[in-house]
Amino acid sequence: MTTTENPIRAGAELVDELQSWLEENWDPDLTVGEWWKRLGMAGWAAPMLPADCYGRGLSRGDAMVVSGTIARFGALGAPVGMSIGLASPTIATHGTREQIDRLIPPAVCGEVAFCQLFSEPGAGSDLAGLTTRAVQDGELWHVNGQKVWTSGGQFADLGMLLARTNPDAPKHRGITWFAIDMRQPGIDVRPLRQMTGDAQFNEVFLTDAVVPDDNRIGDVNNGWAAANTTLFHERSGMATRGGGGEGGAWARLARAGTVVGDLDKRAGDFVEREAATPTRRRRVAAGSSPAQAQIDLAREFGRLSDPHVRQQIAQAHILGTLSRLNGERHKALRETGGDIPGIPNFGKLLTAQILRLNRDLGLEILGPRGMLHAYDADGREELASAPGGVGAMAATAQALGAQALPIFGGTDQIQRNIIGERVLGLPKEPGDLAQVPFNQLPKNG
Ligand SMILES: Cc1cc2nc3c(=O)[nH]c(=O)nc-3n(C[C@H](O)[C@H](O)[C@H](O)COP(=O)(O)OP(=O)(O)OC[C@H]3O[C@@H](n4cnc5c(N)ncnc54)[C@H](O)[C@@H]3O)c2cc1C
Repeated sequence: MTTTENPIRAGAELVDELQSWLEENWDPDLTVGEWWKRLGMAGWAAPMLPADCYGRGLSRGDAMVVSGTIARFGALGAPVGMSIGLASPTIATHGTREQIDRLIPPAVCGEVAFCQLFSEPGAGSDLAGLTTRAVQDGELWHVNGQKVWTSGGQFADLGMLLARTNPDAPKHRGITWFAIDMRQPGIDVRPLRQMTGDAQFNEVFLTDAVVPDDNRIGDVNNGWAAANTTLFHERSGMATRGGGGEGGAWARLARAGTVVGDLDKRAGDFVEREAATPTRRRRVAAGSSPAQAQIDLAREFGRLSDPHVRQQIAQAHILGTLSRLNGERHKALRETGGDIPGIPNFGKLLTAQILRLNRDLGLEILGPRGMLHAYDADGREELASAPGGVGAMAATAQALGAQALPIFGGTDQIQRNIIGERVLGLPKEPGDLAQVPFNQLPKNG
């Protein structure tokens, strides 16, 4: 058997199995909650999780085959966001059997939505410098501090919390990972308004908030290992999907969780609504070039013969194709037991570059029309019927949002540091503050 035959046959078998399952199980008249329960408990909602943790142990590439097959079949896809993408794999890797069975099913079935309480005003790139404290008192931990940039915090049921539990230990060794209940009096979530008009992320103030020891994932003071699992999945997911998070602009279909969740609504309505919406994004998926949306936009605005626009479209096509081929090369290698160190970091950098290129290209094509952006439903309706319609709206929105990915989940500079130090073996920055007890570190150290 050659190495190329194996993945193709595995892919075809996978599609057949899923197709039969969908024929037996999909019913548009189920509620979203009922459908997601079927999908989640069969292991199709989070197929990358291990088979004994409500998944199927599939690779990222095969997981994309699964979501594509569900979409082509015409069924509602799995809930999107951090519960499946970040919290579940972290709990599967570091949680106890009891925690896996208690916390993962509601996450993969969309019954709860998680947010990520990692970053703080003074701890982003230097995440291990976080100062939010958790102090144990019997079965409860009491938490005090502030988080920021918390995507979807206003819609979350649970938070992936990193807190300092031993300030006398070096900074990476005194942190613990908890799953904390967001709906409690000690947690104050304040949305932050962005230039896109959305309030995708929040400040979160924790004042004597509590979390039971039962919800501590991994050993006390070993949260850095769990945090790295979360970050690994965040970076890998971004390279292939462009990020994820409950409440984000990309969560356009049914929403998970108890706060804004669509669990009681009819599942079929979401699929029918999506099919009836001729969005730019759907046309991109159907197009042969990764720059199809830019090509359509240039044609619509009569800029297709402009030499600079043409060059930039060719560049977008090349980078998009490289990104896809890179993903496929990595997938093929992983399936034969190999790996390419640093690929998630490299993939995130490349995605950030593509986003910036598309931002500039979209605005160049639109000209003054690119200045128009709607901040409410009336404005959106008006802009949709103006020249350029939804395609122009999407290009402006993309341009306004393009700054996010190069920052979240580790900035471009941090990705380059990781590639330099861990992949290329370049020397680390001078000084080894990682060995100094946290409470003896110089300020801003
Ligand atoms: C849209 C969005 C959503 C987010 N969602 C979440 C979320 O849900 N949960 C969460 O916890 N966090 C979230 N974040 C936070 C994100 O992870 C941080 O913004 C990121 O880690 C950078 O931290 P910072 O903003 O504190 O910048 P800083 O760390 O203060 O960095 C400032 C600048 O200095 C550079 N820099 C810093 N250190 C180095 C170094 N050692 N070498 C070279 N350059 C360096 C950085 O690249 C950056 O340009 C989100 C961010 C964004 C933009």
